[in-house]
Formats: sequence, C-alpha cells, structure tokens
Amino acid sequence: MMRSKKPSEKTKALRERLLREPVRTWDTLTEAEKNEVQAYSRDYLAFLNRNRTERKAVESFVNLASRKGFRNLDGGRTKPSRVFQLFRGKVLAVAVVGSRPLTEGMRLIASHVDSPRLDLKPNPLYEDTGLALLKSHYYGGVKKYHWVARSLALCGVVVRKDGVPVEVEVGLAPEDPILTIPDLLPHLSRKQMEQKASEFLPGENLNLIVGSTPYPDKETEDRVKLAVLELLEKKYGIIEEDFVSAEIQVVPAESAREAGLDRSLLAGYGQDDRVCAYTSFTAMLESTRPKHTAVAIFYDKEEIGSEGNTGAQSRFLEMFLTMLMEKSGLEPSPTNLHRVFFNGKALSADVTAAIDPTYPEVYEKRNNARLGYGINVTKYTGHGGKYLASDANAEYAGWVRKLFNDSGIAWQAAASGKVDEGGGGTVAKFLAKSGMEIIDCGPPLLGMHSPLELSAKDDVWMCHRAYKAFLNS
Ligand code: MN
Ligand code: MN
Repeated sequence: MMRSKKPSEKTKALRERLLREPVRTWDTLTEAEKNEVQAYSRDYLAFLNRNRTERKAVESFVNLASRKGFRNLDGGRTKPSRVFQLFRGKVLAVAVVGSRPLTEGMRLIASHVDSPRLDLKPNPLYEDTGLALLKSHYYGGVKKYHWVARSLALCGVVVRKDGVPVEVEVGLAPEDPILTIPDLLPHLSRKQMEQKASEFLPGENLNLIVGSTPYPDKETEDRVKLAVLELLEKKYGIIEEDFVSAEIQVVPAESAREAGLDRSLLAGYGQDDRVCAYTSFTAMLESTRPKHTAVAIFYDKEEIGSEGNTGAQSRFLEMFLTMLMEKSGLEPSPTNLHRVFFNGKALSADVTAAIDPTYPEVYEKRNNARLGYGINVTKYTGHGGKYLASDANAEYAGWVRKLFNDSGIAWQAAASGKVDEGGGGTVAKFLAKSGMEIIDCGPPLLGMHSPLELSAKDDVWMCHRAYKAFLNS
C-alpha cells in the first residue's frame, strides 16, 4: 500500500512553530502591492540614471526635499520640523522632528552615495601616437577589467581659475559622444592572458581615448591634445590647469534598466549604495511627525574607508545634530549630544552580496542572502575573525527583528560569503563609536561593485517599507 508523504497536521503545526524557512518577497505581496513595486522601481531607475555621482544624488535629494516642504537647517529662525543640511556638496542629512525630545533618541538611517568608479588624475590629458587620452585613478574596490571595452561617461565639476565651478557631463544624453578605454586585441594578448587577473590590467592602463582630430596648424606639437583643449575651452571655459581643481568621475554611460525576461530585476550602475539612499530618502519624505526624530544621512567616501570631511568618520553628523538641538530650543551641550547618540537607534543601510548560483564555492548558503528574499539584516561584517566588525548587540537584533515581523516585512539574516573567503565593511563600525545601537540592513545585489549591478524589484520596494517602519517606530 502506498503511504502518503503528507505530514500530519500536528507535524505541520510543529514545523511552522519551530522552523524558519526562507520567504520569497513576491509571495508576501498583495496584487495592489505588486503594482506598487512596478511604479516604485520606475522612479528608482529614473533616479539612478539622473544621478551617477554623490554630488548629483544629494543635489537631487535637496531638490525633492525642498519641493516636499523641507527647509535648509542653516536658514530660518522658526522651530525646525522638516529640515536638511548639505555639506560640501557631497554629504547630506535630512530630519523630520519627532514629538519626543531629541535627547530621548533618534531613528537614524545611514547610507552612502559614492560608488566605485574611475576618477580623472590631476594632470590627465596627454597625446600619444596621434591620439588624445585622459589618465584615470580608480576609486574603491573595482575589478579593473570591468572598465575596458565599455561605453563611459564623464560626470563632475571643474573649479576654474576664476574660482567658478562648472559642471561637466558628457556621455549620458542620447546625442552625446561616449568615451572608452579600448582593450588589447586577443591576437596580441598571449602574454597578458597568462597573467593573474589582479595584474594583467595595471591601473596605469586605464586611459580613456578622447580625441583624434589634429589642430590645423601643422607646425605645432601635440596637435590633437591642443584641439581637445580648445574644444573644452569653448564648451566649458576651462584650461589645462583647471583639472587640478576638478572632480571628474568616469562612470558607465549605459542606462539602468529592467532585467530578466520577466522584468523582475533591475540592472544598473551605482546601486551600492544608492539603492539604500533612495529607499531611505523616500521613506523620509513619507514620514510625518514620528515619535522619535527621524534622521537620514547620505555619506560620501564609504568606498574608500569613510575617510575625509564628507565621510562617516567626519564630524558632520554631530554638527548637524548640535544645530538641530540649538534650533529646537534644546541646550546643545556635549551631554545632550551624547544622550541623542546613546539613546539612538540606527540602521547602517547598505547592500549585501546575494548568492551567485554560478559561484557557489564562495558562499555559505545557510548564512548568505538570496536575491528576491527580502531585505537583509547583517549582524556583523568584517573579515576573518570578525575583524573590524561592529557586530550588533543581540538585544538590538531582536528589536529590529520584532519590528520587521510586526510590520510584515520580508527579511532575511545573512553574512557575506564564506568565513575565510574575504569580507568587507560599512559605516556601521564608525557610527557605533557614538554609542548608538546599529545594525546593517539593506537589499542583496548580484555583481556588486561591477558597472552593472543587479537588484530585485520586490527587494528594493521591501527595503523602502522596512525603512519606513523603522523611522515610524
Ligand atoms: Mn556599500
Ligand atoms: Mn561598496
């Protein structure tokens, strides 16, 4: 006689009570929510395409926030309610003042708006073999070979001799030319192909081709370089020395777009970490009079260790909170600032590595994130024996988990890769020093740090919902 494999009702109930099974984000959504996912991802794609640098990202947040009634914290004498502060054009803080005093703690979401890329060197332009080229310096953890043989754009700012900043953007508009770094042809790559992947493309080979038309006067040297400089002067009013006071980034020219035959994914540059920046920013826009003051901060320089005066190791957040206290009528004393931090709860909003089915050997499938299984909560990052990790307290992990469960959030809890395979860090360990409870929390990505990162639409939307639940907690 055939025995049924169906578990008894009792076993089913026991399993439900005791086991945690991975949950597909999509399965948790209503039809109306599935439509919301589509609309939200369209807006997110448009944001990615308009903003490929940290400057552009925070600038567009300032514009959007201003339209939604947020005011510059620096201006105005009235008690602040919805405010922002932009610092050095690259790091931004946004706050919605809560009904309780700031000293009772804030709800902070910290993300970063810089992404791995190539920067132009201070003396980038030269001519060789009748071509004009630009020398670049890679920024952050890139695989250098990703940047050859692809369409590239230039985005950034040049501060001219007269001190006037000029915005440069070439390669994004459909009628624009693109730039590229040609790869060596296979026919002459015998020796290159024998080298290690970390060595076959030295940083000094990341040179962009920018021109081949010679300046008409045949009697002068470097005619192509001169012609390019003449063109730059005409278009932007800049001269060669202006590159010294410039921040021009080389970014992928291709547009972010839907991916997969079923259109369930989003492929695009800069999703680490502009996906968390966008989802937390839009959660802030929807936040009205929360219990605890809601703060979102969008850092620069995370990809090179959170350094500099616009990174998470800077004093910008302290400065912002001090001003917020002062304007709210709270004494901005060091003790009060400590109270804001020590009573504060924070999410370090950053992406995590999704398991790539093609490379199972570097993942630990029970403890790594899957694309399409919700926002990921990472208790600790770091490498080896948890070196350089913040490692959230069990009590706080429990608080976040309960919040997400109570709010119907599809979430997973994973680390990044096998223990001895490598590792990484986020802003969490720097912010943890202030005494806040903090945990890493963001969507998984495939192909992280490549020019074409993949996210799942439903995870992105779920991430937005999770941040909203957190800000309103
Ligand atoms: Mn990141
Ligand atoms: Mn990163």
